[in-house]
Amino acid sequence: MNFTRGLAEPAAIAGAPMADARVEQREPAQRADALVLFGASGDLVRKKLFPALYRLAERGRLGLPVVGVARTPWDDDQLREFVRDVVAERFGTGAAAGTGTAQGAVDEAALGALTRSLAYVGGDYQDPGIFTRLGERLAGAGAHRPLFYLAIPPSMFETVVAGLARAGLNHGGRVVVEKPFGRDLASAQELNRCLHQAFPERAIYRIDHFLGKETVQNLLVFRFANALLEPVWNRRYVASVQVTMAESFGIEGRGAFYEEVGALRDVVQNHLLQVVSLLAMEPPVGVDAEALRDEKVKVFRATRPIDPAQVVRGQYRGYRQEPGVHPDSPVETYAALRVEIESWRWAGVPFCIRAGKRLAANAQVVVVTFHQPPRLLFAEPHTPLPHPNHLRFRLSGHGEGIALSLQAKVPGETLVSRPVDLGFTYDQAFGGERTEPYERLLADALDGQAARFAREDGVEQTWRIVAPALAQPGPIHLYEPGSWGPAEADALTGCEGGWYVPQGHA
Ligand code: NDP
Repeated sequence: MNFTRGLAEPAAIAGAPMADARVEQREPAQRADALVLFGASGDLVRKKLFPALYRLAERGRLGLPVVGVARTPWDDDQLREFVRDVVAERFGTGAAAGTGTAQGAVDEAALGALTRSLAYVGGDYQDPGIFTRLGERLAGAGAHRPLFYLAIPPSMFETVVAGLARAGLNHGGRVVVEKPFGRDLASAQELNRCLHQAFPERAIYRIDHFLGKETVQNLLVFRFANALLEPVWNRRYVASVQVTMAESFGIEGRGAFYEEVGALRDVVQNHLLQVVSLLAMEPPVGVDAEALRDEKVKVFRATRPIDPAQVVRGQYRGYRQEPGVHPDSPVETYAALRVEIESWRWAGVPFCIRAGKRLAANAQVVVVTFHQPPRLLFAEPHTPLPHPNHLRFRLSGHGEGIALSLQAKVPGETLVSRPVDLGFTYDQAFGGERTEPYERLLADALDGQAARFAREDGVEQTWRIVAPALAQPGPIHLYEPGSWGPAEADALTGCEGGWYVPQGHA
C-alpha cells in the first residue's frame, strides 16, 4: 500500500530553511541603507517601482540613496529627469484615472527628496566594470546594507548575482527577485542554488505582488481575527473553494513574453496558489516571516501534484494573430484546474482555480461554498432547496470586499427562501486610499520584513504541484473573447451551480 501517493518527497525539495531561518530571524532586521535598482530604465521600474518610491518619499519613508543600474547611457541628471516625468505622468493633474491613487498636484517636496536621492550607473551587466563602479557609488554613499532589486529579464539574474558576488557587494546586502522565479521545478532549484552562492536564504526576497494586496492580507486577518469562522473552516462544513482571476484584456502587446509562460506559469503557480495557501493554512503561531511561511509551506506539502486530467486549457480566438505569437501557438491564455489538499482539514474539498485573459470581466474572487442544509423544512414538493451559503472575497476592483450569502424567508405563506447578502466593501468601510502592493513590498524589503515574500521551499513546492500539468499539457480549447472561457471547464468544479459568475459587486 502506498500511503504517500503523489505527495511531496520532503527531502527532494528545499527543506532545511524552516528551523535554521527561525533561529536567524531572532535578530531584529536592520533597515537597508541603499536601494539599487537593476533594470532602472525598464517597464516595471517605470510603472511600479518609481511610483512606489515617490509614495514612500511622500510619507517620509524613503531616506536612503537609490542607485539605478541599466544599459541606457544616462547620467544622474537624466535619470532624475526620467523619474520626474514618471511621477508627473502617474500622479500629476493630467494623470490617467483608475490608477488606484489620488491624483492632483505632485508633492514637490517629496519629488525633490526622491530625485536628490538618485544616482545612475550605466553599462552592460556582462561587464565586470559596472559592478566596480556600483561599488564606488555605494561606498561614496557610506552604504553597507544595500537592497538589490533585480527588475531585469530572468536570463540576467545569474549574471548580476555573480557580478555582485565577484565585487564583494553581496556581503550584508539583500536581494529582491522578480517573477518569474524559474519556469519549472528544476530551473527554480537552479536559481535558488545560484542565489545561495551569494546570499543566505534570509536575505532573499522572492516577490509576488499578490502578497502585497490589502485584500489578500485580509484573508489572514479575516480568518484568524473572527472566531466564528474557525469551527466551520474545514471539510465538515465547506463543500468547495473557487479562486478566479479573470482579465477582460488580452496580452497587451507582450506576445513574445506570454508565449514563454502561459496562464499556468504566469499566475497559477505563484499568485493563485499563494491565495490557496492563505485560505487553507492552519493558524500560525505568530506573524513573523517564518511562522507564517511554515504554515503556508505545510499546505503546499499536503497538496497533490495536479492531475493533468483535472486541467482544462483554453486560448482566446485571435491570440495567434497577436504580434509576437506563433501562428500555431499551443500556449494557454486560460487554465482551470482542480487542486486537492490531503490534510485533515481539507481532504475531499476541491479547490478549483481558474485564470484567463479576454474573459467577460475583470475579477479576482474567492468563493467558499458551504454544504447544503438537509431538506427537512423544505421538503414540500415544488419548494426549491435552499442554496448553500457561500462567502465571497472580492480581491480587486471597486467592489473589493467580502459578502456572505445567507438564506432568508421570502415574505408570504410558504417556507420559501432566497439568498441575501451580508457584506462590506473596502471603499465604504475604510475609504478609497490604499497602499499599492509594490509600495508595501518595497518598504518591507527595505525594512528586512520577509513575511510577504515567498520562501525557497514554498516556491519549489508550488512548482512541484503544477509540474504534471506542465509536463502533460492537454488539448487547447478555443474560446470567444468576452466569454467565461471554454465550456469544457464547467465539469471541473464538481459542485452544483458550476463556476461562480462574478457580478457587479462580486
Ligand atoms: P524591460 O525589458 O522593460 O526592462 C529590462 C531592464 O533590464 C532595462 O532597464 C534594461 O536596460 C535592463 N537590462 C537588460 N539586459 C541588460 C544588460 N545586459 N545590461 C544592462 N541592463 C540590462 O523588462 P520589465 O521591466 O518588463 O521586466 C523586468 C522584470 O520584472 C522581469 O523579470 C519581468 O518578468 C518582471 N515583471 C515585469 C512586469 C511588468 O509589468 N513589466 C510585471 C511583473 C514582473 P536598458 O533598457 O537600458 O537596455
